[in-house]
Amino acid sequence: MDPNNQDKKNNHTLTLSKIEMRDYGYRVVDTIVEHFDTLQTKDPVTSATRSEMDELLQESVPEEGTKADEVLDFVVQNVLKNNDILSHPKSFAFVPGPSNYISVMADALATGFNIFSGGWSPSPAASELEIVTINWLLKLFNFPVKKGGGIFTSGGSMANLTALITARNYKCGDDFSKAIIYLSDQAHSSNIKAIRISGFKKEQIRIIPTDMEFKISLNKLRNAIAKDRLEGWMPFCIIASAGTTNTGTVDPLEDMGKICKTENLWFHIDGAYGAPAILTKKGKHILKGIRLADSLTIDPHKWLFQPYEIGCLLVKNHKWLKTSFQQNPEYLRDIEGNESEINFYDHGMQLTRRFRALKFYMSVKTFGLGCFRTAIEYNIDLAEKTEELLRKSPFWEVVSPASLAVLNFRYSPIDLRLSEERLDFINRGVAKKITSARKAILATTVLQEKVVLRMCLINPRTTMEDIGSTLKLCQDFADEIRNSTGQ
Ligand SMILES: *Cc1c(COP(=O)(O)O)cnc(C)c1O
Repeated sequence: MDPNNQDKKNNHTLTLSKIEMRDYGYRVVDTIVEHFDTLQTKDPVTSATRSEMDELLQESVPEEGTKADEVLDFVVQNVLKNNDILSHPKSFAFVPGPSNYISVMADALATGFNIFSGGWSPSPAASELEIVTINWLLKLFNFPVKKGGGIFTSGGSMANLTALITARNYKCGDDFSKAIIYLSDQAHSSNIKAIRISGFKKEQIRIIPTDMEFKISLNKLRNAIAKDRLEGWMPFCIIASAGTTNTGTVDPLEDMGKICKTENLWFHIDGAYGAPAILTKKGKHILKGIRLADSLTIDPHKWLFQPYEIGCLLVKNHKWLKTSFQQNPEYLRDIEGNESEINFYDHGMQLTRRFRALKFYMSVKTFGLGCFRTAIEYNIDLAEKTEELLRKSPFWEVVSPASLAVLNFRYSPIDLRLSEERLDFINRGVAKKITSARKAILATTVLQEKVVLRMCLINPRTTMEDIGSTLKLCQDFADEIRNSTGQ
């Protein structure tokens, strides 16, 4: 063993001694543990300009090595710290990533063993574990376990793209020039991205308006389909949202499923953040229609508490994936295997894939699905309690009620009758000030032309106290803005 190995100029085998690996590994683990343990005491927000980051991190590629400890120290000090902490209990904006320690370590194992999760033959156990965990999810969402299938992806965007390619291939084949896709004005932007990059033109997209509750208008959807048929287009796919990013709204899935059935359309549901609510009683009720989908996107790195990256696409029939993605090149013939032995490279875009199933498997095994269920229930309750709190106050207006742990509200004191422009200005200012103070990750969105503050409460470690103190701060900032800029 050579403890000075890392200092050697010519370590062309890129190896460390056993002792060095262990010491280095322990330091990395200690750093991660410290991060988890002190989250609460840290400010979740960072901000830096490009020139500040250039100043800190720009350098030309080093020909010579540096001591491993020095590089690690530098990274801990300058790289890891200068990013928002999305797993912080006061990270409320967008869709947070609560994560969990078991899965973090599982990712370390998967990377440590550098397991290739592309084909059965090189990785039978990794492939089997993906089949096992996909089956858990199929069952959870009432998809047929035997016939159904799925694949883990990098995230929801990739799952939506995989769904769209599969749908296009199955429904349209090679000529999709007349095919039309329907989705609401609240659908996630990744769906539009997927539609565009899979070769559809802008004229093939129908954005259907939503009603007062932000659900897709069924009448407008039916009318659009009828009109397109009359004009010679080929309606082909409806994308529903099970938990819109803005308001947590679930589209009328049952009705949309029926329309798809009678019109012979592909039914894709984007449940990236919201679908895991099916684990709870309330969620099961509003997400009942999920069983009607041909394909479903879920994002375990959101409300199934996994670290980045893991998304997932489920399909009613696993053959649809294979017929859309399989290519059979000669250099992969030796590992093709038999029917039941799935090569996940045939089911999606990636050939070389990291072993994503492991973290999901290990965290569910360790905590039990019951803990996930309780965590999601807790989050739904937390959002409802927050709504109650806001409704009791004369300063706040609830703009969209708690739905799948998301709610939107704005500062709007009842007795002051401020103009809409003034309210927009104040609420935008509140989010800016909270961000500058670094105390919470909180952002605005726009609903029915009003600037509103939005909270997505999917972190099981967020407490009512975290929310109370954030709202208090928001109110102080709002008062401050109102007073300093005149009534
Ligand atoms: C987050 C989200 C996506 C995109 O998922 P990524 O994992 O960020 O790629 C798609 N749809 C919805 C509804 C989402 O909330």
